[in-house]
Amino acid sequence: MACKKCGPDPVMRLSSGVKLCRSCFIKYFEKKVRKTLRIFSLIEAKERIAVAVSGGKDSISVLSILNDIASKKKHFQLFAILIDEGISGYREHTIATAKSFCEERNIPLHVYSFKKEFGYTLDEMVKKLGMKPCTICGVFRRYLLNRAARELKADKLVTGHNMDDEAQSVLMNQFKSNIGLSARLGPITGVKTDRRFVRRIKPLYMVSEKEVALYALLKNLRGKHNECTYENLSFRGEIRDMLNYLEDKHHGVKNNVINSYLEIMPVLKEKYKTEDQINSCLKCNEPTSGDVCAACELLAKLK
Ligand code: SF4
Repeated sequence: MACKKCGPDPVMRLSSGVKLCRSCFIKYFEKKVRKTLRIFSLIEAKERIAVAVSGGKDSISVLSILNDIASKKKHFQLFAILIDEGISGYREHTIATAKSFCEERNIPLHVYSFKKEFGYTLDEMVKKLGMKPCTICGVFRRYLLNRAARELKADKLVTGHNMDDEAQSVLMNQFKSNIGLSARLGPITGVKTDRRFVRRIKPLYMVSEKEVALYALLKNLRGKHNECTYENLSFRGEIRDMLNYLEDKHHGVKNNVINSYLEIMPVLKEKYKTEDQINSCLKCNEPTSGDVCAACELLAKLK
């Protein structure tokens, strides 16, 4: 079935068989994101919203949509935070994309770097620690994003995670028997009652990687360098390839992982409540479940 309104140049075929032209696809995509914001109550009036922007297609797409909404409705304030991990051959290009995107739209952008905050780039940390790059990157990015968002008085921190990212995380936790970690997933995460944490929201939760890539392409939001040098070294990369293979053979698999996760999410969140177990790190005072946070533990190994 062709797009009823716009004729014969479809850019996307939905599972229902409906084909969408460029303009209908853009409307369909933005409507899905607005619906996600609404049904999960991700943003409330007058909030200060920080977007973690990397310059890749996901974060630039979500920043673009939220900027359009904020400019029209003016019911929340928007700014962006960029973390420069120090990944040579990759991050310098995405930083340039993010900076020019924010400059063109007058979106305040705050840049933090691993080198300045921790004394080492990610490339240097990988060489010294001999650990998987994504493990190191994840620990320091989470730490710095939370601290930056809190210092900049953000009420919520937006990330560009899409449906594929979330489905991968759910399966990774299953395969590694880390089910408690799945309690920390979902369209909105973090501890509401603890001001040391800025809650994270994922407006792209219900759209697939493929849809985001197409949206970014059609809206001319894509930079030229979207693949991190380290991406294929991760367990996530293996799960991503497996899910893509299954999705090709059995359409709707990713959607099914997310929908079944959403059904059990309230039970998991209740069972693995963390509110009472959060301490302050003995070294840096940031929130942690143990005595010393993961970032300070890694920093000690680096030194
Ligand atoms: Fe960091 Fe890994 Fe993502 Fe690269 S792929 S930005 S190393 S988490």
